[in-house]
Amino acid sequence: MTQSIDGQRRAQNGLDSGVGGEPVVVIGAGPYGLSVAAHLRAAGVPVRVFGDIMGSWRHAVATGMFLKSTPAATDLSAPVPGGRLADFCRETGEPELTELTPIPCQTFVNYGMWFTQRYVGSVDPTRVTAVERAGAGFAVRLQDGEEIESAAVVVATGLATLAHIPDELLLLSPGEPGPRAALSHTSQHTDLSRYAGLRVAVVGGGQSALESAALLHEAGADVEVLVRASRVRWGERPQLRRPWTRRLAQPASPLGTGWILAAVCRAPGTVRALPAAARMQLFRRALGPSGGWWLRERVEDVVPVRTACRVEQARLAGNEVHLRLGGTGSGRADVVVDHVLAATGYRLDVDALRFLTPPVREAVARVPGAQAPRLSGAFESSVPGLYFTGSLAAPTFGPMLRFVAGTEFAARRITGRLARQRR
Ligand SMILES: Cc1cc2nc3c(=O)[nH]c(=O)nc-3n(C[C@H](O)[C@H](O)[C@H](O)COP(=O)(O)OP(=O)(O)OC[C@H]3O[C@@H](n4cnc5c(N)ncnc54)[C@H](O)[C@@H]3O)c2cc1C
Repeated sequence: MTQSIDGQRRAQNGLDSGVGGEPVVVIGAGPYGLSVAAHLRAAGVPVRVFGDIMGSWRHAVATGMFLKSTPAATDLSAPVPGGRLADFCRETGEPELTELTPIPCQTFVNYGMWFTQRYVGSVDPTRVTAVERAGAGFAVRLQDGEEIESAAVVVATGLATLAHIPDELLLLSPGEPGPRAALSHTSQHTDLSRYAGLRVAVVGGGQSALESAALLHEAGADVEVLVRASRVRWGERPQLRRPWTRRLAQPASPLGTGWILAAVCRAPGTVRALPAAARMQLFRRALGPSGGWWLRERVEDVVPVRTACRVEQARLAGNEVHLRLGGTGSGRADVVVDHVLAATGYRLDVDALRFLTPPVREAVARVPGAQAPRLSGAFESSVPGLYFTGSLAAPTFGPMLRFVAGTEFAARRITGRLARQRR
């Protein structure tokens, strides 16, 4: 990278505006990276942001999908009032969203772009390829070869590199899984209509599995969903007016109704203080796989769903995939398909973040019983100056951090800490 382009980048990122010191590098320009960057900028902390703006929502979500969360739970965190999803809709003439309106992904992407222009400024789309310790800070290497020094690094890279496919399915793909192979992960698709006319087994019972199955069916694929649980769970249609007795018994929260969800959303800092075992229990149990209420009519009695079954063996026979199922709902015959779509979620594992050099990864202490980072109350890991936010922070602060609703808490905590250090 030449000096002049670096100079351009620095100016674009607001680093030449008189605020001194090495910048904070934010890796990721999804809801978390953008929210943290917006707060840091407003606090006068020099910051450089890398990533594709709303990249996961543009490149890892199939066309036609909707958000599962309600509009009130889908605000990015701006440092001043005026940056909510509802503000965006009002200002740009988008139709008003109510609790009963599923949000199209494209609307959310447009909101992220608008938010960036308003509160973040320019974002550098270059990928970060390496982060290593350098003195009291970090050396951050970019895909184009440029290396920059940074006082602190905020990892906001989301789930894209953490996609998980169980071993028994991986055998189907001697090379890399992908849309053209016999096996792929839901995060590898933007267009499921490529499977029109083909037989597809979707493995999983959460929103990704069920919505992918609906889209596949609607595109003309012959699809079956294989679910481990004994039944598919569906969210409840929100009630716009709830009597006070109901509101008291089941308080509302960005993640749904009920005391546990309300508590973990109101006090994520307190979740961190719970014993590790209780926190992990909460992380695993608070929100199991389920489908959005508005999706139900597109799946139930429309798409074949086999519950209480798990894939015991998967093998390729010519161009076909044979799946042997176990479990009480498996029936006797193998399932034979052309493609297996793994909607099998994500594994929160620091070791999968290959842009962190091995010594950095090894130095990151993990939460007991998992591979996610152990974090301070300000989201800092055991490597001083290295912060993690988004889903990787959920085992520390609870399930809200898996969703956009956690951006406010994360952005304020991280910025509070980094701004204090600058003073
Ligand atoms: C299918 C699906 C549906 C979901 N639906 C909802 C929903 O309805 N509501 C909700 O609240 N949450 C939902 N989630 C969870 C959702 O992922 C988060 O809420 C939100 O997107 C997390 O934001 P993030 O900023 O952490 O990560 P992401 O949005 O994933 O953004 C990651 C960013 O990191 C960048 N990046 C990654 N690696 C690098 C690198 N090496 N160098 C530079 N940049 C990099 C990417 O370009 C991108 O900008 C859903 C998740 C999935 C998978």
